[in-house]
Amino acid sequence: KLLQAHETADLPATFSFEFFPPKTEQGIQNLYDRMDRMYHLNPTFIDVTWNAGGRVSKISNDIVNTCQSVLGLETCLHMTCTNMSVEIIDTALREAYESGCQNILALRGDPPLDAQVDANGQLIHKGEFQYAKDLISYIKKQYGDHFCIGVAAYPEGHPEEDNCDRVIDYLKEKIDAGGDFIVTQMFYDVDNFIEWCHKLKAKGIEAPIFPGIMPITTYASFMRRAKWSEIKIPQGFLDILEPHKEDDFKIRELGCELITKMCKKLLDSGVVNHLHFYTMNLEKATIMILQQLGLVTPEVNDTGLTGGEILPWRKS
Ligand code: FAD
Repeated sequence: KLLQAHETADLPATFSFEFFPPKTEQGIQNLYDRMDRMYHLNPTFIDVTWNAGGRVSKISNDIVNTCQSVLGLETCLHMTCTNMSVEIIDTALREAYESGCQNILALRGDPPLDAQVDANGQLIHKGEFQYAKDLISYIKKQYGDHFCIGVAAYPEGHPEEDNCDRVIDYLKEKIDAGGDFIVTQMFYDVDNFIEWCHKLKAKGIEAPIFPGIMPITTYASFMRRAKWSEIKIPQGFLDILEPHKEDDFKIRELGCELITKMCKKLLDSGVVNHLHFYTMNLEKATIMILQQLGLVTPEVNDTGLTGGEILPWRKS
């Protein structure tokens, strides 16, 4: 299970990579090649997102199966439950179980675009599960302690609930229902994150916190993702990046420096000892950050992942 690997790792900090299921066969093959290469970086685990039922969720299960049983990676499957039938959940859990996967990130998922709200402004949900905590309880009921269960958390509040203290109370409910570890939404405001971690401790939340790290690759995607996730961008980031927004090469270089600095501050603060990278199915920026942090061992360069090959844009 991923928590055992995390706790026994002989490193100053551990790390993990998130991937999403590509839409095409070629995309899936490319992803396997990338995962095979990133395996040599020795992540504690990799996780695969889930896209609200249907074909794409089946692909998530297939990727988890291959990663766990063929590539030998400790794997975590995301699962969402809102507007989802119990049959779909049962099938996905059974397939994960049979493939040897022992980790699930249990999520509610985003409501459909046409979701209705009741008189109290609460979303009307269809199906068995209203919140992530309902899925957690269900997994516990069906599989006992087989799965190590992760939950999502929002250091700057959730788009549907900006009262951060209330969101922490809901997080506590998820941990009390059986959540074992916490993976956070991406963020760039480290001071706010550190304060939030202290608040969790004060509320009695002791589960390990894996901060979500989103590398910066282009200015447009950096701005767009921060807007989608409704997170703050510190002025210092804008001052450094904005003047170079038309130069992708420079943005990646500066972005890596900013994120490396941010990760160092996080690790130095002592509130976390793990970094969870949203790879967006790309490897260069994440590897560069890990190299700058000194978390990638020198042998990495002997596995075909030479500095020049990984980071061609860094050389000039
Ligand atoms: P919950 O914890 O159930 O919370 C949902 C909302 O309900 C929040 O506003 C919360 O404040 C509120 N709430 C919770 N409990 C209560 C209560 N008892 N009473 C009243 N209100 C309550 N989405 C995908 O579709 N696929 C993915 O693979 C995926 N991966 C993700 C990974 C991470 C690390 C994160 C942070 C998010 C991910 N998401 C994914 C997005 C996620 O599904 C959405 O953010 C979703 O809106 C909330 O999911 P949750 O599990 O946090 O829900």
